[in-house]
Amino acid sequence: MSAPVTGQPPLIDCHNVSVYRGETLALDGVSLRVAVGEHVAILGPNGCGKSTLIKTFTRECYPATNRGESHLRILGRDRWDVRELRGMLGIVTNDLVDECTRGMSSDFAELPRRVTARDTVISGFFSSIGVWEHHVVTPEMREKADELLARLGVGHLGDRLLTEMSSGEVRRVVIARALVHDPSSLVLDEPTNSLDLKATYELREAVRTIAQSGMSVLLVTHHLADIIPEIERIILLQNGRVVDDGPKEKLLTSERLSELFGVPIEVGRRGPYYHAW
Ligand code: ADP
Repeated sequence: MSAPVTGQPPLIDCHNVSVYRGETLALDGVSLRVAVGEHVAILGPNGCGKSTLIKTFTRECYPATNRGESHLRILGRDRWDVRELRGMLGIVTNDLVDECTRGMSSDFAELPRRVTARDTVISGFFSSIGVWEHHVVTPEMREKADELLARLGVGHLGDRLLTEMSSGEVRRVVIARALVHDPSSLVLDEPTNSLDLKATYELREAVRTIAQSGMSVLLVTHHLADIIPEIERIILLQNGRVVDDGPKEKLLTSERLSELFGVPIEVGRRGPYYHAW
């Protein structure tokens, strides 16, 4: 179901990348390649470096320069304008969901603004949190925002404030925001955290339609049930290292995951979905 597009540079080409967070070596010589159109889940225990890996792709964390030759190319390029890069990767983290809900970014000292779903999506055009007086919003932007909200199944909520929506609805609005620049991928960091069963189901279905449209889905998670059928490749991270990379039938086994998480885990499969307990 993953359909790598041939003849294009890889979406991600990462070779021997190490990253320090303070004194901690959070990524230790990570190498991986993800083709455009390929869907991948990155799985591993808390603290294994999943968020750091995403932050390295988005240039919030920088590779160490003292650990041998390394490179990190996104769509074939070493250098990017950071805003353009983030727009092309389509990143949705829980921090971003919080910032959008509060109507302010973590480095913003102003009072929170209350924003609607439509404005949240439009803010993606400006890489801002909320739409501000100096932003010039065109009818095309509004139209695209409404189209994307509809695509995510929240088209009826355009005028609703984010603070008056359920967590699942907010998350789908923030995913719509990530799609305004027609990115090459959608990168989701723990997308179903704190969602109930219905919201989890609706979010998963929305992500499935995006994956089926040909856009790469990169999912970072520790919940096997988040791994939609379209994702066939799994990358296992442990202590900042890629310890395995392969098809899910091979890696999502009781034995392999018990070893990875360091506790007895039983993996079950129902249709194309996996569960662990
Ligand atoms: P995950 O997302 O898999 O839970 P992280 O990438 O958040 O893992 O963390 C990887 C390692 O880096 C952990 O040991 C964590 O404690 C450390 N770490 C993460 N953020 C910071 C930070 N801001 N300062 C210092 N260490 C950090």
